Amino acid sequence: EVKQKGKNDYYVFQDDHLKKKLPDLILLGDLHKSIRNRELFIVYQPIIDVKTTKIRAMETLVRWYHPVHGTVPPSEFIPLAEETGFIVSIGEWVIRQACEQHEKWKKIGLPPVRIAVNISVKELQDQHFAKRVEAILSQKQISPEYLELEITESLMIYNEPIILNNLMRMKEIGVRLSIDDFGTGYSSLAYLKRLDVDTVKIDQSFIADCPRSYYGSVITTTIISLAHHLGMNVIAEGVEHLDQFRYLEEKGCQEAQGYLFSRPLHPKEATKLLFQGIRHLY
Ligand code: C2E
Ligand code: MG
Ligand code: MG
Ligand code: MG
Repeated sequence: EVKQKGKNDYYVFQDDHLKKKLPDLILLGDLHKSIRNRELFIVYQPIIDVKTTKIRAMETLVRWYHPVHGTVPPSEFIPLAEETGFIVSIGEWVIRQACEQHEKWKKIGLPPVRIAVNISVKELQDQHFAKRVEAILSQKQISPEYLELEITESLMIYNEPIILNNLMRMKEIGVRLSIDDFGTGYSSLAYLKRLDVDTVKIDQSFIADCPRSYYGSVITTTIISLAHHLGMNVIAEGVEHLDQFRYLEEKGCQEAQGYLFSRPLHPKEATKLLFQGIRHLY
């Protein structure tokens, strides 16, 4: 009976906002234990050279294996982690794992690939971000140019001094910067060039429309051409079909990523793929 329940319970069932938030709150309590309980893990998705199909980079994508709910995708827990600041701990854990994996691949004799790590704007708002990355880099055998930080474009990265300082420090020590989901936000390529951004990743929504839709194709080719004129590397995200790949090849896009080449893989499978290379395309 609703009336006999406590005031808070009553609100839970009455208020739409709280009704939606309740599972989040439960998850949040668990999320804080996820690192300690070793429930987070990383899958790796290759980024390939369009001309040769050689693997040039591996993107780290975090997953949470919840003891009751099973695998929780990042879209469900990253926003929660951002709200509470726990993203800083998750982010540091991911960067450390990424550098360790790079080290392992190096030790078994694989040619080096870049490791791309997704960074939340919330992490960049922490004034110790750059120092922590530097500390990890000095502990691990990875030269900075093999670490690529993927930042989703947002207005904040231009206005907040702490963020700009962190980004500038990363560039100073040779870490690469990449803009994720490019085309969905507000950045101009000219401004990104001033930030000394190395790579832009064209958002998958535009690639999904290639080559059939006029707008998707025009946006894609325009980004490729402008970015190349500015000396930036371009990665097409979300490539699923051979005709998209052929189109990108024809337009001179350097790198591509998507299910056509490989889904995100557990470390062992990623290692196997690095040894074997991408073979199924031709
Ligand atoms: P993102 O960085 O833009 O990553 C691309 C997403 O598209 C990934 O989803 C990937 O699995 C998926 N994807 C890759 N190829 C294809 C394709 O061909 N077709 C389609 N439909 N999808 C494809 P995922 O792993 O669920 O990650 C979602 C987002 O979560 C990421 O978007 C990223 O913004 C965020 N994320 C993932 N790992 C981390 C992390 O360690 N830290 C932070 N801050 N965010 C992360
Ligand atoms: Mg990304
Ligand atoms: Mg992203
Ligand atoms: Mg993306």
